[in-house]
Amino acid sequence: MSAMRRYLPVFHDVRGASVLVVGAGAVGTRKIEALLAGGARITVVAKEFSPSVEDRSALGDLTAFRGAFHPDQMEGAELVFVSTPDRALNHRVAAEARRRRIPVNVADSPEECTFLLPAVVRGDEFTVAISTSGRHPGAAKALREFLEDHREEISVRLERGRRRKRIAGKPGKVYIVGAGPGDPDLLTVRALGLLRSVDVVVHDYLVPAEILSLASAKAARICFARRGRTAGHGAVLKQNAIHEAMVRLAREGKSVVRLKSGDPLVFGRGGEEAEHLSREGIPFEIVPGITAAMGCAAAAAIPLTHRERSSSVTFVAGHETDEKGGSAVDWSLLPKDGTLAVYMGVGRVAAIAKELAAAGFSPDTPFAIVENGNRPEQRVVRGILSALSRIAMESGIRSPAILFVGRTAALFPYETTGERSDEPVAQGV
Ligand code: SAH
Repeated sequence: MSAMRRYLPVFHDVRGASVLVVGAGAVGTRKIEALLAGGARITVVAKEFSPSVEDRSALGDLTAFRGAFHPDQMEGAELVFVSTPDRALNHRVAAEARRRRIPVNVADSPEECTFLLPAVVRGDEFTVAISTSGRHPGAAKALREFLEDHREEISVRLERGRRRKRIAGKPGKVYIVGAGPGDPDLLTVRALGLLRSVDVVVHDYLVPAEILSLASAKAARICFARRGRTAGHGAVLKQNAIHEAMVRLAREGKSVVRLKSGDPLVFGRGGEEAEHLSREGIPFEIVPGITAAMGCAAAAAIPLTHRERSSSVTFVAGHETDEKGGSAVDWSLLPKDGTLAVYMGVGRVAAIAKELAAAGFSPDTPFAIVENGNRPEQRVVRGILSALSRIAMESGIRSPAILFVGRTAALFPYETTGERSDEPVAQGV
């Protein structure tokens, strides 16, 4: 669904209708544009015209009278719109229209109208109209803004509605969605819209309850726990179960969010899941998320790149490979003038420290470990590589945690707490 167009009222089909518009300020101009789009024939009367009405008049798109309103101008009109700053004039025009039994709309004066124009939100395939019978235009506007803010959700709901009605038997869709590193404020707008609207949320243990609570109350939640070591056969079984569940749910016609921590394509098996869905003919879409390296770097003020201190950033898996039992990474190939972001490394931090030293990383290279980044219990510990193993052990760092190595890790060398300021940030000062 493309962006919704705002403001303009919708005249579904006013082709050929004669419409009199009295007043050509901002309000009158908006109505004129919408009426022209609907195919109306317009006569405008006003003391002054907005530039766009001037242009329209010069192009011959409408008939314009500059000057005072005269009742004769209403001859033959089928609809009348009034929006001048002169209330007495508005009243006179409305009374004349009523006398002639022509439907009339007076801006900001619902009691003088014979019909009202609701606030509208338009998508490609729908129009939602909101009316408070003219009594609370501000409330109607607020509601319209709410709908505009939730357009993703509306589009998914529409898709569901369409499926329900016409195409039973067609598979639902799977959204492989990144949930970010833990703070619900770091979800994307699209992720939030999808969470609120799909039938099922399939997630794993790394996604915090606070984020899951944002899913619609009606959505089923399925957790595939993966806490602890699930390397080898267990992990394969678990991943197969997830694949099978997604396919089964989609075949039942359900819309599914497969919610993954961080970004689904960064050490998240999002690629494997997409491959499986594609093999099975299930439509899918991947929605990115803020990966742990980025969320944690921001939280600990570690620039991943920096003009003087780091010319690259590398995302590395710190755990062992299932097959070899050794490191999955050739540490000697990693750039020493950049930043390393080591995922899944806490369990092997002593070995990683050795591997980095053997690979030629200087013992005084700064590091930072961010544990539970972007969550209330966030902790950051810092030091230099020669002390990495000792500091990690003494501070009892536990998963989930990410290890940064590089000169930028020491740029802001203070301890960062997990506290988040909810003070509004001053803007434009
Ligand atoms: N797809 C995820 C990564 C999953 S692998 C992403 O893009 O972030 C799991 C690893 O991610 C953890 O072992 C840890 O290294 C890192 N991680 C995930 N969430 C984290 C968090 N809140 N704080 C620190 N590290 C985190």
